[in-house]
Amino acid sequence: MFKETVDFIRAQYPSKDTISLHEPHFTGNEREYINECIDSTFVSSVGKFVNEFERKIAEYTGAKYAVASVNGTAALHIALILAGVKRGDIVVTQPLSFIATSNAIAYIGASHLFTDVDKDTLGLSPAKLSEYLKANVVKKDGGAYHKQTSQRIAACVPMHSFGHPCRIDELKAVCDEYGIVLVEDAAESIGSYYKDRHTGTFGKIGTLSFNGNKTITCGGGGAIITDDEAIAKHAKHLTTQAKVPHAWEFIHDEVAYNYRMPNINAALACAQLEQLDKFLADKKKLALAYEKFFKGSELEFFTEPAGARSNYWLCAVLLKDRKRRDEFLEFTNANKVMTRPAWRLMNKLPMFEKALCGDLSNAHWIEDRLVNIPSSARI
Ligand SMILES: *Cc1c(COP(=O)(O)O)cnc(C)c1O
Repeated sequence: MFKETVDFIRAQYPSKDTISLHEPHFTGNEREYINECIDSTFVSSVGKFVNEFERKIAEYTGAKYAVASVNGTAALHIALILAGVKRGDIVVTQPLSFIATSNAIAYIGASHLFTDVDKDTLGLSPAKLSEYLKANVVKKDGGAYHKQTSQRIAACVPMHSFGHPCRIDELKAVCDEYGIVLVEDAAESIGSYYKDRHTGTFGKIGTLSFNGNKTITCGGGGAIITDDEAIAKHAKHLTTQAKVPHAWEFIHDEVAYNYRMPNINAALACAQLEQLDKFLADKKKLALAYEKFFKGSELEFFTEPAGARSNYWLCAVLLKDRKRRDEFLEFTNANKVMTRPAWRLMNKLPMFEKALCGDLSNAHWIEDRLVNIPSSARI
């Protein structure tokens, strides 16, 4: 079956010798907008493209406000600050995620609490979260405090893994019950909807990424999305060194960050956003072809969860066990078809191995079996 799989993937990308996991396409107005940006001389943190990109991201996702940032990790960092997370607080997140989610929590000096994911969404499980909180938390003054450490559980950061929406409405209900602020890491899920609503718009704040390997890219970039005007204003302030507007004076009114997306990246971003729906349509077509191909075979193709419309950022298959997973990784990569395992779970990394954890059996099960397969749009 491995040989047939390699042949099938090759047939999807007939012009390629080495087939990558996900590559960008610059087939629209990229060059035109970048030239326009250079000609304007406004290539840095001020310019028309970065403002336009914010407007278009808000429009696309249905969020009231969007604030562009240098990357998705910076967006998460700012989102957690604005969620009110302080040094010494706990932030709950999933162990199955890209490192950026946990790094952003560490930047604030907060502690991690890892609770399990659902097998059918790959994202944070509301049932497992609720079970953990019930057993380990006391409610006090409208907040939730960990019984063992007395720390406040300030925020919860679920992630829509590989673009598949998690049970975000149920997570919101659990967070609301405990006074925990919901911040959505939607870095992988632009164009993914849960119950017809764009991912990243369920939480108080959501974050997006436009890194080179994401569905659309501007080289490096991210965005903070929210319906809260005060949060949006503060996000813009914190990403622009907290400079107080003035015709010539340099006045800054708090410690902040140089996190604004440069206009030249935004020029690329604007051109990419125009093509997002085209990319999504082809990625969906590819996912359906994979689903049909793998049906009844030893490789189980992961399909979008119930109630969700996924962008299928990275298509995934599940193998029988870790040994078989490794054999598949060996064979495909040796045959120049790039495949990758899921991330090593965060709680196993040296920086986070002492973190608080719930039962993580689903995350371990997925880590042992999941492999991402080539998923680029064929434009
Ligand atoms: C890509 C990604 C980010 C942000 O990454 P940047 O490279 O900083 O844009 C954050 N979280 C997850 C889960 C991601 O996949």
